[in-house]
Amino acid sequence: MVSEAYGQSNDRDRVLDATDLVALIGESVPLKAKGREHVGLCPFHDDRSPSMAVVTHKGNAFYKCFACGASGNAIDFMINYHRMDFPDALRYLAQRAGIELQQRGGGESTRDESADLRKAMQVALRFYRRALADAELGAPSRAVLDARGISSSMREAFQLGAAPASWDRFVEHLGRLAEHARTKDELPEQGVFERSGLVRQGQRGPIDGFRNRVIFPILDELARPIGFGARKIDPEDEPKYLNSPESPIFRKGRTLYGIHAAKKPIIDSKVAIITEGYTDVIACHAAGFTNAVATLGTALTREHARVLQRLCETVILLFDGDEAGQRAADRALETFFAVPVDVRICTLPDRLDPDDLLRQPDGAVRFKAALDASVDALVHLVAGFRERLAERPGAAGRQRVIEEMCQRLGAMGIGDVPALRRRTVLQELSRVCDVPVHELEAALPRPRAAAAADTRADGSGPLPQAPLAPVEPVLLSGPQFRARSMAERDLLAVLLAAPEVAVQRIATPDGDSLPVHELYAPGVFLDPVARTLWTALHARLEAGLQTTVQDVMADCGEPTAKNLAAQLFSKGVARCEAPGGALARLTEAVADMERVLARVSEPTPQAVDDLRRRIDELKAIGRRPTAIMRSAREDR
Ligand SMILES: [Zn+2]
Repeated sequence: MVSEAYGQSNDRDRVLDATDLVALIGESVPLKAKGREHVGLCPFHDDRSPSMAVVTHKGNAFYKCFACGASGNAIDFMINYHRMDFPDALRYLAQRAGIELQQRGGGESTRDESADLRKAMQVALRFYRRALADAELGAPSRAVLDARGISSSMREAFQLGAAPASWDRFVEHLGRLAEHARTKDELPEQGVFERSGLVRQGQRGPIDGFRNRVIFPILDELARPIGFGARKIDPEDEPKYLNSPESPIFRKGRTLYGIHAAKKPIIDSKVAIITEGYTDVIACHAAGFTNAVATLGTALTREHARVLQRLCETVILLFDGDEAGQRAADRALETFFAVPVDVRICTLPDRLDPDDLLRQPDGAVRFKAALDASVDALVHLVAGFRERLAERPGAAGRQRVIEEMCQRLGAMGIGDVPALRRRTVLQELSRVCDVPVHELEAALPRPRAAAAADTRADGSGPLPQAPLAPVEPVLLSGPQFRARSMAERDLLAVLLAAPEVAVQRIATPDGDSLPVHELYAPGVFLDPVARTLWTALHARLEAGLQTTVQDVMADCGEPTAKNLAAQLFSKGVARCEAPGGALARLTEAVADMERVLARVSEPTPQAVDDLRRRIDELKAIGRRPTAIMRSAREDR
């Protein structure tokens, strides 16, 4: 017992010692050297600025995320990122480092179904690959691959195989393996092969699950077989493709074919190309587009999107022809709303699929041109809305189009995406449609969580809406604008220097008490540079994310806004040291803001009339009272 425990911890230490943690994590997450550490985007939360450090000095080797707190060693990384269990992670890392584990057998007798399935898949993969190489058994499959121009290096890279044209070749093979197996652990029992579709029960006993088919092994990120795709050879056979059934190690909705070969190129190029079939992926790789993967006969799911967003910034979806269009773009957008990746739609010429296109003499050139001409999916989506906005110039018509667009976005799930992502999507929409963000925000269905929080526990109804008063700069004369701009910058300075006070509720002159980000929507800020800065800071506060000045600078992108952030940060630090500290400065800054806002938001009689008309219009198209109230306040 003692020696067993010793053996296991010994194995663990040896594996950890022999593992280069930076190389291991670097295969999954792009890392950059920074001093004695490496840093990268944390794969365990929705990270926008590199929050994860990989520390490997003075005998240490661990990763740590300063935002979400994820941390651990190489084994933890395999468990948490690659979803392995402990024995599996240990075995994988040992194999990777070329270490023989001392502790065999004992721990493995309690192996779970996943380990058995993996073993069964390995046994089958070896069988199919040997069959493809066999002069007689592999001939029909080789003929298919030859006809499609799939080279021997691609057959190797994708570990292609052949299921012989026989009822029970594989079953016989398993029988022979069972005779020679020395322990029960070497070969899973037959039930495992049946559950994974490799063996079926025929009328007179077990038969092969795949017969007379070309085998496309489906490999996970670590190039381990988790399932098989099998293409028919005989035209009479149905269906064209047979796939392994889902299992604890094989979920179609999160698996991408070709990921084992495409992962590194996707990380390096920051772009993933999504095709629809096995041969499309292989054709892309053969032509040098090694960042291509395919879904397994399903539409792209959110799980796929999450896998991809860990690896890249842009996803290009290939469609072979005019069916592509709006519907496909919509579906893709719906999938990707929740994750911070850009999605582009690429339509290939002449309704060709990638495989057919790339086999033409100038195929690679035309393929590249099509990729370069791909259209941002969001642009694709809003193009239709923009046209309709142009068709309806009146205020009521325009409002209705915005309403419809926002309802559609709501139906597509935008209400449930993280605040930061929603902000990005709205800013993009705002840019493309030329509608201010606050107008879109007001028309959107409220996120479920926020809507729930809106109703007080004592049933006294919704909380008062935050005062939102965007005012056109043209209404302000020079000195007024300067006063406003100064107040905005003072507020930013305090919040950048002391983001921790942002959660404090601030009393406003009209008796409200709210955190500062609920007090001022981004549209309130008038100075365009300050507004960019506040938009970034606001989104972080709203999402409850960390808010260092570096984070905000990274989010706001524009150099002028970054400069202002740095400038205001030092100003704020100096100011917050004064007696009373950061909270006192924040209260002052808010009071200043309220003063300058009050000076320009006295409604004129003309404005009141406009407002009444607008409310009637809104009522006519059936908006909820809160939305009307909110619009009313914005229109002041
Ligand atoms: Zn994290």
